Amino acid sequence: MKNQIIKRSWAEPYKIKMVELLKMTTRQQRIKAIKEAGYNTFLLKSEDVYIDLLTDSGTNSMSDRQWGAFMTGDEAYAGSKSYYKLEAAIQKYYGYKYIVPTHQGRAAENILSKILIKKGDIIPGNMYFTTTRLHQELAGGIFADIIIDEAHDPLSEHPFKGNVDIDKLDKLVKEHGAAKIPYVSLATNVNLAGGQPVSMANLKELRAYTNKYNIRIIHDMTRVAENAYFIQQREFGYEKKTIKEIVFEICSLTDGATMSAKKDALVNIGGFMATNEWDVFEEARNLVVVYEGLHTYGGLAGRDMEAIAVGIAESLDDNHQKARVGQVEYLGHKMMEYGVPIVKPIGGHGIFVDAKAFLPHLTQDQFPAQTLAAEMYIDSGVRTMERGIVSAGRKANGENYYPKLELVRFTIPRRVYTQAHMDVIAESAAHVYDKRKSIKGLEMIYEPKYLRFFQAKFAKL
Ligand SMILES: *Cc1c(COP(=O)(O)O)cnc(C)c1O
Repeated sequence: MKNQIIKRSWAEPYKIKMVELLKMTTRQQRIKAIKEAGYNTFLLKSEDVYIDLLTDSGTNSMSDRQWGAFMTGDEAYAGSKSYYKLEAAIQKYYGYKYIVPTHQGRAAENILSKILIKKGDIIPGNMYFTTTRLHQELAGGIFADIIIDEAHDPLSEHPFKGNVDIDKLDKLVKEHGAAKIPYVSLATNVNLAGGQPVSMANLKELRAYTNKYNIRIIHDMTRVAENAYFIQQREFGYEKKTIKEIVFEICSLTDGATMSAKKDALVNIGGFMATNEWDVFEEARNLVVVYEGLHTYGGLAGRDMEAIAVGIAESLDDNHQKARVGQVEYLGHKMMEYGVPIVKPIGGHGIFVDAKAFLPHLTQDQFPAQTLAAEMYIDSGVRTMERGIVSAGRKANGENYYPKLELVRFTIPRRVYTQAHMDVIAESAAHVYDKRKSIKGLEMIYEPKYLRFFQAKFAKL
């Protein structure tokens, strides 16, 4: 008999050399653990977690080549060899001229915001990111969302939901004047939209527009490689280009960048700021000494810079991204088969479950996404996180932001879990979905001042 293979499966372009053993818990243990954590998955102990989908940040599995490079780190205080390797990798693969390493992405945002933003400036961006917007605000700026409307609609299947709405930007320019806009804050594969890409056509249009008004584009390039994968898969004219080529082109259309290397660059800690402007670089080199460390290590060990340099190259391999995003899509399709409401199209770094649709009997003040994340943990030990009203925080005047999207993020660490883990996650989501009507909401009983989602505590209603 002949096998009828129609479609061939993808698989990871690596094999496993070392494993980390996990503790298996009972439902009773998990009920106790989440209660003690104030129903905030950030406050769980990781040893009580079976499959950790809290974040794809710093949770990457490094390759043998990265570990090999790690051992060659040059820990000199000044002029480390490892710094020059990192600088060379960034110049080669991303094309930015000047770089300042930082301990992670938000440190780069702090420095860049301090340099470029004056009090009262407007910072348009394709959806906010928590730390990015906070640093813009702490520097005196006001964030303005200019992402296309489709990004706020969990049902829209727009292939490039990260795109900038140029008309929204034009309105801001007409209203405030270009001099009040130091830069457009452009994220690739927009995190809070659900890992949704920006198209090259949109970026080119944005570049043409900003050139007219002499406004910079600062690139939050934390997930640029995943964005490039989607351009390759979805955008006319890019199907034959490599991810390397596409990433280089994206970066070439921008003036500078902040990067959390803990995501796409396949390491556990690190980041950098990059710019093509000498003046900005000079100031950044001054400031990094105050907040991070000397400009040739910026808060990182030499070994970290080595691992990032290797990780950047590995992240731009076409087979890596195909397996990376392929695994996320596998999980998403399974959840859809079970009827679990998720944001579509499936994004690059995780599955975003629409908590408003999942728990329609809860109001936004009863924290549907926070509630669902706690229920997922109780059901299977899978740790997810809230991306909704808790994450959105409060405005300067103390009022809550009420974001349209109320999501639970199932973020997939890179190169960490297997397809069998994905099955367990999808089955657990399906089970919680089946008993959704019996799920009660939460009230907030402790609220920290900044980035409250990290440490807030809740109680069951
Ligand atoms: C993680 C992240 C940051 C901040 O980086 P850290 O390394 O966590 O400080 C900035 N922007 C985006 C889009 C991110 O996902």
